Amino acid sequence: MDVSRRIVLHFPPRVTGQPVVYRLARDFRLRFNILKASVSPGQEGLLVMELSGKQENYDKGIQFLTEVGVQIQSLSQDVVRDEARCTHCGACITICPTGAFSLEPKTRKVLFDDSKCVVCGLCVKACPPRAMRVYF
Ligand code: SF4
Ligand code: SF4
Repeated sequence: MDVSRRIVLHFPPRVTGQPVVYRLARDFRLRFNILKASVSPGQEGLLVMELSGKQENYDKGIQFLTEVGVQIQSLSQDVVRDEARCTHCGACITICPTGAFSLEPKTRKVLFDDSKCVVCGLCVKACPPRAMRVYF
């Protein structure tokens, strides 16, 4: 069975610069799509990616990452909307490149589907009451 998950990888300085992601493809036959990267040699790095492959290989790949010291988070935990702050103004609907926000016609409420989010951060800046937050 194939799985596809979006994850956030935190690289400690000693791991940044090692061909860790290359080994996911070579040793575990996993496919990856990098959504966001800020990795510089000798410093902490961060990588948001979609990782896909056979469940068994995926699990081994994640185990390998953990063993080399990479911390892994699931992406859905990282972009959140503070429901108490959201005024349903709709500013985020047009700015989100992946259509993660939509207007519910009956209630005129703005819905947020975090499974479509690619963590670009645009809604965080665009939201007037600062209801959107990105955590890494
Ligand atoms: S921009 Fe902010 S306040 Fe407006 S609908 Fe989107 S999340 Fe809610
Ligand atoms: S972070 Fe980007 S992709 Fe995610 S909901 Fe906000 S605008 Fe959309």
